[in-house]
Amino acid sequence: YRHGEASEVVVNTPNGAVVFGEHQPLVVVAGPCSVENEEMIVETARRVKTAGAKFLRGGAYKPRTSPYAFQGHGESALDLLARAREVSGLGIITEVMDAADLDKIVEVADVIQVGARNMQNFSLLKKVGAQPKPVLLKRGMAATIEDWLMAAEYVLASGNSNVILCERGIRTFDRQYTRNTLDLSVVPVLRKLTHLPIMIDPSHGVGWSEFVPSMAMAAIAAGTDSLMIEVHPNPAKALSDGPQSLTPDRFDNLMQELAVIGKAV
Ligand code: PEP
Ligand code: MN
Repeated sequence: YRHGEASEVVVNTPNGAVVFGEHQPLVVVAGPCSVENEEMIVETARRVKTAGAKFLRGGAYKPRTSPYAFQGHGESALDLLARAREVSGLGIITEVMDAADLDKIVEVADVIQVGARNMQNFSLLKKVGAQPKPVLLKRGMAATIEDWLMAAEYVLASGNSNVILCERGIRTFDRQYTRNTLDLSVVPVLRKLTHLPIMIDPSHGVGWSEFVPSMAMAAIAAGTDSLMIEVHPNPAKALSDGPQSLTPDRFDNLMQELAVIGKAV
């Protein structure tokens, strides 16, 4: 069980320090699944910033089930994230899949994401643990809570104490109506077991944008410290995860609803 106080992860963004933690305001991370082009990422950054998000998310390197699906624009997308950071002042969260890309990602990102599929890539965990930026560790789709906490331990043991745990849904038997089963029970369980800050990603959790707002609110009711929400200016045309992405207008509405029920956004 956890010993001592909840720890806080402080991230210095161009707009100032943002703190993830149990006793801090809710932190919202928003943006597209993939960085597609300059116009869309900059527009999304502006819109989610206005709505109250503190971080822009967007993948440059995408872990796709099919090798024939869009794989992300790679290094050129990192330049676009840097541009969006400059324009909006938002912190940037993006995924590392290959340790060979880590140095380039660290130059642009304020938080380094390790995705569900790499949660137990121990050599990658050691490398992200040996660089200075905070790490967002997503739960593997079939990982137990113990597996997940031990994966976090790899990062901590490598010298990086700034780890945020993100629940993104576990494998479900009902693929017809939900993409995954969002396991909100992790919020109280993690609170008991660990001092690390908690994030909930309802977008990957349910897989359909119409269900995202309810589960975002449920996550706040359960006591999450932060949320990750996929937002795309034109979900129907998205190169990945369009069906689960909110439009900027819908995201703006959601943020207003969250402010009413939640910790101040
Ligand atoms: C993502 O955040 O776009 C992503 C690929 O997430 P996950 O690793 O949770 O599937
Ligand atoms: Mn996605």
